[in-house]
Amino acid sequence: MVTRYELLRELGLLPVWRSRAPNAAIPTAEPTAAEAPSTAGEAATVYAITPVDRAQHIAALEWPAFASDVTACTACGLCRTRNKAVPGVGDVRAHWLFVGEAPGAEEDARGEPFVGQAGRLLDNMLAALGMRRGNNVYIANVLKCRPPGNRTPEPFEVESCRPYLDRQIALIGPKIIVALGKSAATTLLNVDATIASLRGRVHRYQGVPLVVTYHPAYLLRNLPDKAKAWEDLCLARATMRRLHDGGEETSRLQLGGADPI
Ligand code: URA
Repeated sequence: MVTRYELLRELGLLPVWRSRAPNAAIPTAEPTAAEAPSTAGEAATVYAITPVDRAQHIAALEWPAFASDVTACTACGLCRTRNKAVPGVGDVRAHWLFVGEAPGAEEDARGEPFVGQAGRLLDNMLAALGMRRGNNVYIANVLKCRPPGNRTPEPFEVESCRPYLDRQIALIGPKIIVALGKSAATTLLNVDATIASLRGRVHRYQGVPLVVTYHPAYLLRNLPDKAKAWEDLCLARATMRRLHDGGEETSRLQLGGADPI
């Protein structure tokens, strides 16, 4: 009789992914004695995978499997409270990548990032730059699932989701990244700092120029800071133009006139 383990192995379906209880210890890749296939043919081996295995798996994903992998992910537990995963949207060869924090209620309902009120402001910001979503622009979030009540992402959630963002960036190969808000900026730059201290200059994410600006949801509550966000977008645009012209990238703040956003 063929065991379930043997069947899965023959089908190339090992290791099997298994969701863990939220506080359970990180499992090893090796089956425990209780899980190991028994010669009696009874043991239905279920491997859990280590964070390293998982990171390697995600780092090898190609676009056709990317969204379904995100949707099937159970790593941090937010899958239990979300409606739809929100992998990202846009031109997969975009020069411009905008990264936000996490889906909100409307994004969670539709499975697309930045479709609520903050999204409308982001669309205005893109329009002010002469761009629109999907056209040379990709939009992603640090977290692919909504935290309940739009709470701030937990460090564990950010770390669990981070391999997906890293893989998206590798697949897209953007020429510039705009980090929208503190979560995106601190995650991508691996620093703990305020937006105020990070904006106004060009950073690097794995060699790619990265400009930090305020999150659109923050701007909706703090309208005077829209002028600063416009300065940041002008810095990003100037940086991109320099790249196109083959010159040195702009490394300091460039003012761009009146705020059109
Ligand atoms: N805020 C975000 O950071 N991302 C979204 O997709 C929506 C709101």
